[in-house]
Amino acid sequence: MLERGYIQIYTGDGKGKTTASLGLAMRALGHGWKVLIIQFTKGDSATSYGEIVSGNMFPNLEIVQCGMDRVVYSHNVCLEDFKEAKKGWELAKKAIQSNEYQLIILDEINIAIAMNMLKVSDVKDALLHKPETLEIVLTGRYAHPELKAMAHLVTEMKPIKHYFDIGVMARQGIEY
Ligand code: ATP
Ligand code: MG
Repeated sequence: MLERGYIQIYTGDGKGKTTASLGLAMRALGHGWKVLIIQFTKGDSATSYGEIVSGNMFPNLEIVQCGMDRVVYSHNVCLEDFKEAKKGWELAKKAIQSNEYQLIILDEINIAIAMNMLKVSDVKDALLHKPETLEIVLTGRYAHPELKAMAHLVTEMKPIKHYFDIGVMARQGIEY
């Protein structure tokens, strides 16, 4: 366990934000930490993301999806998306306060905030009052400036090249 946990943000348009957070989870689990990952704006029939299946293999890892089974854009966002995000946030708040985890990853929470599904003031408040030893990771494009100001580590993934641009679609085992 850490003496002091910090707040990390992985944002930007390049690939690797969610992957970076999963790498951190893997590392922490190896030291016996309890890890919770809440995936905002993601939902599926439980098996399409490899990490959801992997989650079952690590007793100290919990992964919860709080989103619909599709990619959310500003043009297709609906009431269900808001409900899911709220559910995810209630869970996150409780988990943060519980002091049960050493690492909490809020995957794509930046998107949920950018789409006004969550209030940045609520998130800031929960982060301010997190247990001292808890490390929290926020991922997703469009990280809010106030959260970036508050975090202790901010990395912006910068796309130099992406095979999507030559027609390579998301691949099992790599993107999901
Ligand atoms: P990953 O989950 O692979 O680490 P990410 O979390 O950085 O990616 P998101 O913003 O969550 O990326 O985007 C979701 C999907 O879009 C992922 O499948 C990702 O590989 C893909 N993607 C990320 N960056 C780009 C890009 N610059 N161009 C096209 N597709 C991208
Ligand atoms: Mg991601």
